[in-house]
Amino acid sequence: MPRKLGQHFLVRQAILERIADAACEGGTPQVIEIGPGRGALTRHLLSRAGELHAIELDDSLASYLELEFRDDPRFHLHRGDVLQIDLAQWDSATIVGNLPYYITSPIVERFLSLDDRFPRAVFLVQKEVADRLRASPGSRDYGFLSVRTQLYCEVELILKVPPSSFRPAPKVDSAVVRLKRRTDVPENVNSIVQFASRCFVQKRKTLRNNLRYFYDQRLIDSLPEAGLRAEQIPIHQLIELHAKLEEKQERLARD
Ligand code: SAM
Repeated sequence: MPRKLGQHFLVRQAILERIADAACEGGTPQVIEIGPGRGALTRHLLSRAGELHAIELDDSLASYLELEFRDDPRFHLHRGDVLQIDLAQWDSATIVGNLPYYITSPIVERFLSLDDRFPRAVFLVQKEVADRLRASPGSRDYGFLSVRTQLYCEVELILKVPPSSFRPAPKVDSAVVRLKRRTDVPENVNSIVQFASRCFVQKRKTLRNNLRYFYDQRLIDSLPEAGLRAEQIPIHQLIELHAKLEEKQERLARD
């Protein structure tokens, strides 16, 4: 089987069961599966969920799946690129996938941009990405990806997955994470995300250096945190900083 399109198929049944359990815990009427491949995870999801929408880009795999699940009316196959398909067309679903690693970030981004009809996602990703998604301030892995994800979701590590669980084995370790959408996402989250991206422009530089192109220098200098790096600052403090700077900048523009 060619390794194009991130095609590493999970073969450990115990791991497939754990992923399906994590996705369908508490019951889920509808699941969207990204990259079902040969349907290894699909089977476990169908035995726990109501309807299942599977999105597969590879035509030959899609044809195989159509045949394999032709007797199950709850299985719906969608041929195409997950990044081109409007996930919001489905009502209230859990999103699941052993993801093609080359597009992990855009897939996570798409999940974050959905609304609370999509309360959780369970993704098998590269371990390094899982570490970044759930990192705490002050740790090596804490960066813009951690902040952006944690603004929208709680991130939970479900299990680590070694290369030997796949055929063919990938070169890297993997991990399953569950993203649970927060009910308290700030209304101005887009503006906060933009602010966070500015704070992390150059990870090793201080806020004073990173923010000077966007705010009046006097405002930045007045911050007790100006000499810190963004990687040292917890999310709630970044939110407060953003509010403070925006308000002061506005006042300055008015006066
Ligand atoms: N779920 C299967 C498993 O666990 O054995 C296969 C997982 S494999 C890591 C990734 C799957 O995503 C492959 O079937 C691949 O063809 C599919 N894929 C790759 N890029 C895709 C895209 N842009 N949209 C939808 N599916 C894609």
